[in-house]
Amino acid sequence: YFDNSTLVFLDGDFIPAEQATCSAYAQSLHYGYAVFEGIRAYSTPQGTRIFKAREHYERLHYSCRAIGLPLNYSVEELTEISYDLLAKNNLSDAYIRPLAFAATPHMTLTTPAAGNLLMAVWHWGKYLGSQSLRLTISPYERPNPKAVPIEAKVSGHYANSIIASSEAKGRGFDEALLLDMNGYVAEGPGANFFVEKDGELFTAPGGSILRGITRNTIIDLAREAGITVTERFFKPEELRGATGAFMTGTAAEVIGVASVDDVVFDTPFEQTLGAHLAASYSALVTGQKEVVEAQF
Ligand code: PMP
Repeated sequence: YFDNSTLVFLDGDFIPAEQATCSAYAQSLHYGYAVFEGIRAYSTPQGTRIFKAREHYERLHYSCRAIGLPLNYSVEELTEISYDLLAKNNLSDAYIRPLAFAATPHMTLTTPAAGNLLMAVWHWGKYLGSQSLRLTISPYERPNPKAVPIEAKVSGHYANSIIASSEAKGRGFDEALLLDMNGYVAEGPGANFFVEKDGELFTAPGGSILRGITRNTIIDLAREAGITVTERFFKPEELRGATGAFMTGTAAEVIGVASVDDVVFDTPFEQTLGAHLAASYSALVTGQKEVVEAQF
């Protein structure tokens, strides 16, 4: 991720990555009380462009509000810092990781008086690779939205993701697919999940998932192409007889799903709606098509 020439942004300064340290008593380190974003920049004919920077930074603000963590930078300032950090590291096609956290020594279970901001950038290929994935339904559920604000991108929620993903890989699968507390298909540990059946698409509604910015983009691109997309609850049984499935995320982009446990999708991914949308997504992020941002 970094070498001795890499710079990160920490609380107002661009400093060498290896000098970015925090207190052993930092509240975020002990309790996972922090929020983050995953954003991508692409080289486009118009130069380096961060895809949907505003939506990502609005979601960062939303996540901070959801847990009561102070964030002292506006969406515009965060966007500017991101472009500066990319330029200082000579990166164009890159992943951007802002982390809002509490660096001060604070061991009690109360919200901190001040927040800190770290931002790092690195080159990252497609997070889940480009081969269609063999998924398995995880024995771990997505966290109950009545216990934690699961629509916020809170660091602590990712213990659930790490456990589920490692468990799936330990059983020889590529990735986990998690259900919600009612047994409906929710999402992957770090990506949303879509199913194609009878020429239409469906995906889990908001509530127990992170409402991905890639997910929203894919819904828009599909509707533009005249494809019906429904956000609704569905059980794993509904995967039987489906044409295909795919996952979406900033880091993963759009990636095909070959199977979910013993349900194997016979149609090659290249012949599914998912592949068509993957191509439109790629054209959009690389600046071959105008990006229209929504309100997060
Ligand atoms: N769900 C989870 C749990 C994630 O971590 C991510 C990645 N941020 C996504 C979905 C996809 O979200 P986005 O498209 O905004 O990257």
